Amino acid sequence: NTFAEIDLGEELNQNIRRCKYVKPTPVQRYAIPISIAGRDLMACAQTGSGKTAAFCFPIISGIQKELQYIQRPRVARTAFPLALILSPTRELSCQIHDEAKKFSYQTGVKVVVAYGGAQISQQLRELERGVDILVATPGRLVDLLERARVSLQMIRYLALDEADRMLDMGFEPQIRKIVEQMDMPPPGIRQTMLFSATFPREIQRLAADFLSNYVFLAV
Ligand code: AMP
Repeated sequence: NTFAEIDLGEELNQNIRRCKYVKPTPVQRYAIPISIAGRDLMACAQTGSGKTAAFCFPIISGIQKELQYIQRPRVARTAFPLALILSPTRELSCQIHDEAKKFSYQTGVKVVVAYGGAQISQQLRELERGVDILVATPGRLVDLLERARVSLQMIRYLALDEADRMLDMGFEPQIRKIVEQMDMPPPGIRQTMLFSATFPREIQRLAADFLSNYVFLAV
């Protein structure tokens, strides 16, 4: 019933206390232990439910624990993030980035955001300085992949936020292209979380294609 009872790591737990999150919201109470246990997750959750923390906490915690053991390829000017959070808009991506940055304070986990409709040069410079968690809109990420400035070869965690909105905006081809790159050999171990306010047939199909043996959560 409290965040302190979940083993998220000392630094993250401290950040949670500092931000005065005391009691997990319902989606957090169920989603975080499921993710920590390593299961894929499809969650029906609305804006304001606390879903951002529900996918950010397990990602930050998991990456912090793995960071010292992970060897990334050295390719000049190509970033190899360990986690990817896809969201439909610049505004939402920036909100997620702010939240993820706040909670990764002093964990050693680096968060970078990349969205369309803004100059790419600043985002490229940020990526060159290193990235563990990349928050991105689908169109801009495809651009970065085509320029070989980002590789998804090392992705361990994938979160799709507001998946129904991304499909409404016509991002399905981009999303499929992105996930395809993660499925290229050698196959990594990827944990996937899909968040959506609604659960129409198209979202069920995405879940069937991207998630394996997943837990369905409706709160
Ligand atoms: P979200 O649904 O992720 O956009 O979160 C909605 C708002 O609730 C944000 O302003 C969060 O900072 C806040 N929030 C999320 N989880 C908690 C929590 N466990 N305790 C207090 N505030 C929270």
